[in-house]
Amino acid sequence: MKVLRALLICSLTAALSAAPSPPKKAAHPDIFLVTIDTLRADHVHCYGYRNIQTPALDGLAQDGIRFTQAFTPSPITNTSHTTILTGLLPSSHGVTDFAVPLAATHPTWAELLHAHAYHTAAFIGAVILDSKTLAPGLDRGFDFYDNFPEHSHTKSRWGRVERRGMDVVLRAETWLSAHSQGPRFVWVHLYDPHDPYEPPAPYSQIYKDRLYDGEIAYADSALANFIGFLKKHGWYDNSLMVVVGDHGEGLGEHREDTHGIFLYDSTTHIPLILKLPGETARKAKVVEAQVRTTDILPTVLDLARVTAPAKLDGESLQPVLTGTDTDASERIALGETDYPLRFGWAPLRSVRTRGLKFIEAPRPELYDLQADAAELNNQYEPWNAQVKNLRGMLAGLRAKAPPPAPSQGVVGQGTIDELKALGYLGKADVGSATNVPEPSLLPDPKDKIEEQNLLHLAMIASEDDRAADARRSLQKVLQLDPKSPTALRQLGELELRAGDYVNSAQHLKAALEVRPDDATAAFYEGQVLEKTHDLPGARDALEASLKLMPGQFEARLLLGQVYLGLKNPNAAQDQFEAALLLQSSSIEGQLGVAKAQIAEGNFNQAAQQLESLSKSQSRNAAVFELLAQAYTGLGKKVEAEQAEARAKLLRGKT
Ligand SMILES: [Zn+2]
Repeated sequence: MKVLRALLICSLTAALSAAPSPPKKAAHPDIFLVTIDTLRADHVHCYGYRNIQTPALDGLAQDGIRFTQAFTPSPITNTSHTTILTGLLPSSHGVTDFAVPLAATHPTWAELLHAHAYHTAAFIGAVILDSKTLAPGLDRGFDFYDNFPEHSHTKSRWGRVERRGMDVVLRAETWLSAHSQGPRFVWVHLYDPHDPYEPPAPYSQIYKDRLYDGEIAYADSALANFIGFLKKHGWYDNSLMVVVGDHGEGLGEHREDTHGIFLYDSTTHIPLILKLPGETARKAKVVEAQVRTTDILPTVLDLARVTAPAKLDGESLQPVLTGTDTDASERIALGETDYPLRFGWAPLRSVRTRGLKFIEAPRPELYDLQADAAELNNQYEPWNAQVKNLRGMLAGLRAKAPPPAPSQGVVGQGTIDELKALGYLGKADVGSATNVPEPSLLPDPKDKIEEQNLLHLAMIASEDDRAADARRSLQKVLQLDPKSPTALRQLGELELRAGDYVNSAQHLKAALEVRPDDATAAFYEGQVLEKTHDLPGARDALEASLKLMPGQFEARLLLGQVYLGLKNPNAAQDQFEAALLLQSSSIEGQLGVAKAQIAEGNFNQAAQQLESLSKSQSRNAAVFELLAQAYTGLGKKVEAEQAEARAKLLRGKT
């Protein structure tokens, strides 16, 4: 096949060089990448869906090339976007979970263009792609990467974890206006179609019975605004534009409500539209060949005349664009999802050829896509020659997969909360793929999808402060699987927040019996035992949690307090100092060290530390209360009284 392709490309090159030279155009065009989150190909008007209006996407397809059979290897946002931006499969770039840093050895789209004098900027619609927390390394090569504010003052999801498409687009337009000299590469991420489905008016009314479609129509209107802006400034015609979905949405097919667990076409078939720069654009071209999102980067580099990295998992679509490459229909689309691992279920791998789809799972699946496009009739038989062939393709994939990423340990509570706000399982030990048993021994996600739907509903309900709804969903999960460690832990956390410590402790104990290495459940157990004044129990739970995940700042602080309560100031000081290693500016950590020093009778050091702290914390009563204790210990009566008076004054005012 490789030889055939090489021959085709050679003959094509010869044909092209014989053709009259094309009109002049800039060597490096402006490049605009728009990714639309959670966008199923079959819910876009120009892809044949008649119940929606998507004029911007349709118009772009009129001006460019629409790929009817484009596939993402990953059904999860950050993994899928990393693939688009690196041209690598998830098993190659290694970003197979939230907060896993993209290794510096993998050049990104922005880096490659930046090296060719491109001005680069990224505008993201959800915190899931924030390079400070959940997508470290994705900002590499961007002059400007529009992260979310570190400390958000709003409880609303808007601006804190998500931005409306129009907000994202306006931010991009502002940047473009301020950077009018090309060439520029701008990536715009429209998160709107991701659940929960809450389109603004009038889309909430027009599509009131189909809110997912309403979100798509709204995202399309944001795209229309962006394209209109580019046209107004005369930047559209000569630009190279790529619009692509990062993955689809289950919408109940195969019983999957959202996305992430399965590798069926419902979540891997995405729209891809390419508009070429200048007059060479072939209008309203439709490509039926199967292509992959790994092909986008090599294509863009090809079109922008930028040398591609030696190792990429996709291939330029240039031969397809010139219209003679029949070989392109042989591009094999691989699929990978490790998201089930977060729930303790088997990860999935898939391979899709023109007519067949094979999914490697504890119960493997084979579909004849010609006869069964909905992938409902599993034809798998282990001795089937086609299965052996397709399995061989996957074996190559596994062989080159890097070892599991080390546990991150530094993921903060804020990041976990953000994940939950977006409806993802907010485990603290994100990135930890260690201690995973042989995948084939784990439950098949097909047997667990109802549980996942309920867990997802519970997370969305918790985020909306609907504790009763969340509790009901989690209890339903326990009816399906009384030992679901995720449901037990989530219920434990829910009851902890609700103040029902007895129930909370019971659920967490049960969760830890099923999964003793769950650092987050152990941390919650430490919290609930501390609340019920079982200090030795809290100490043991927190020590266990920190042994599993040493980088938990909040757990260190709490363990320090517990040790103080246990009259073990030495151990308390160790914990506060460890917390300060994680967050050196933490006031709580510094106060904790001072408390421990006072309890140890080390008044001199405590006083010195507190005096220095009192300069920046001149309105913090706790600082002066402790200072009074330290001075008392040193026999400095006058200073002690002054500090006490200051503390009282500050308390009175607050
Ligand atoms: Zn996504």
